[in-house]
Amino acid sequence: MQDGDFSFSNGTLKRDFELLTQAVNASISGIIITDNQQPDNPIIYCNEAFERITGYDRRDIIGHNCRFLQMDDRNQKEREILRNAVRNGEKCVVEIRNYRKNGELFWNELYMSPIQDEQGNVTYFIGVQNDITLRKKAEQELRQEKDKMEKRIEERTRLLKESEEYLASIVQTVRESLIVLDVDYNVISVNQHFLRTFKVSSEETEGKNMYQLGNGQWNIPRLKELLEKILPTNNPVIEFEVEHDFPHIGKKIMLLNAHRIELEGQFKDRILIAIEDITERRSIERRKDDFLSIASHELKTPLTTIKGYVSMLERLMPENAGEKFKGVVNKTSTYIDRLNNLIEELLDVSRIQTGNIELHKEAFDFDKMVRETVDGLQTANKSHRIVIKGKTTSNFVGDESHLVQVMSNLLSNAIKYSPERDEILVYLSLVSNYLKVSVTDYGMGISPEDQQKIFERFYRASDIQQRFPGMGIGLYICDQIIKNHGGSLWVESEKGKGSTFSFTLPVSERSAV
Ligand code: ADP
Repeated sequence: MQDGDFSFSNGTLKRDFELLTQAVNASISGIIITDNQQPDNPIIYCNEAFERITGYDRRDIIGHNCRFLQMDDRNQKEREILRNAVRNGEKCVVEIRNYRKNGELFWNELYMSPIQDEQGNVTYFIGVQNDITLRKKAEQELRQEKDKMEKRIEERTRLLKESEEYLASIVQTVRESLIVLDVDYNVISVNQHFLRTFKVSSEETEGKNMYQLGNGQWNIPRLKELLEKILPTNNPVIEFEVEHDFPHIGKKIMLLNAHRIELEGQFKDRILIAIEDITERRSIERRKDDFLSIASHELKTPLTTIKGYVSMLERLMPENAGEKFKGVVNKTSTYIDRLNNLIEELLDVSRIQTGNIELHKEAFDFDKMVRETVDGLQTANKSHRIVIKGKTTSNFVGDESHLVQVMSNLLSNAIKYSPERDEILVYLSLVSNYLKVSVTDYGMGISPEDQQKIFERFYRASDIQQRFPGMGIGLYICDQIIKNHGGSLWVESEKGKGSTFSFTLPVSERSAV
């Protein structure tokens, strides 16, 4: 049989055949018929789509075995599948690399099915081909994308694991006890330091509720309240002190800091608690305070005696005593007063520490007190001009001598820390129910970090330590005195430009007269 060489005796059959041929030609799939009865199974029919897909002309196709479509790309396992199907007279589907006449590769999805005669001999094969190059390309791109993605995920997992290990090593190394809690305040993990500090095992701790640990040491209503606010508000718990008789380790003071943690959005809603054992630090501080208190008391007694003797000397000094002698006695008296003031300040600190500072409240003229204090300091310090502006209230109820101490401390500091300038401004005002006093100097100023700390006892800004004398307790005492009067003391300052120390005091105290 040759292409197009069909003969029909019956007209209807001929019409049907023409219709069928038209249909096959209209198909977008390439269709061929091979003759299995002839040597090398040649193509005896191809439709137009097959010509279009392969780029070959019918003349180059008919009579050839299909293998020309693979050109030199012969080592494809699909060819073996096709050969076996032809040998066994079976149908098969393969996706095989074929080449157009111009050498361009195209992926061919080939359905091959045998046609048998009445005796069951395979006479023809029908091949239907679809150009699936685009699909293959998309599949390949998808595969590449997937590979890339997998690589990226691998890399990411590796990095995360590394950062997790990195974090874990930090957590295990820090010299603070750490606990990680979940949303229900159950312990997810603790570090080695925690286990060592509290002498517990991880089995006793991990998985347990925080409030049930030990003998209920963390089951403190105020702490609970603060911890419960961490996740919804992101507000950390700062320096919460717990003094407790802990199992295994006894009475200790622990300082807690707690924060919400989030590691790259992975571990949301977890709480990290850092616990520091400050028992030792506290006891050292206590010993230091005790020492200062004892030392200043011990110094005070002989000093009082010396002061007595010096006043006796002043009283008994003969009328005709030499100027030099008089001068020495005078100087001795001044230095004893200075020493006495220093010791008084130290005693004040220990009185504050032990809660023994006593206020003797009485009504007095506040502005007059300020004027007199300023006058006193002005007489002793000619280097600066102290200007008072504004006024507060004529009558105030409070401990006058303590408030004189505050004023003279602020003024002395203003003079001491503005050696290059000569003006100090004291501003008095009444703001709502508060009287307000501001002492401004135009001197060296205070850095923002130091501003946080200068009200702590014994704190002095590092850059002034050597240049100016002082013990770093004046502001601490002032702050405590103002607090004891129900007011507040604060500083506003810019390095190199000067400082303003202000305090307010509630004047409603007046009603207590
Ligand atoms: P002292 O003056 O004895 O050091 P204070 O408690 O009075 O102690 O002050 C604490 C620290 O605050 C000072 O050492 C100084 O660093 C800083 N300070 C206080 N007043 C001023 C001021 N007016 N200008 C600059 N620094 C100041």
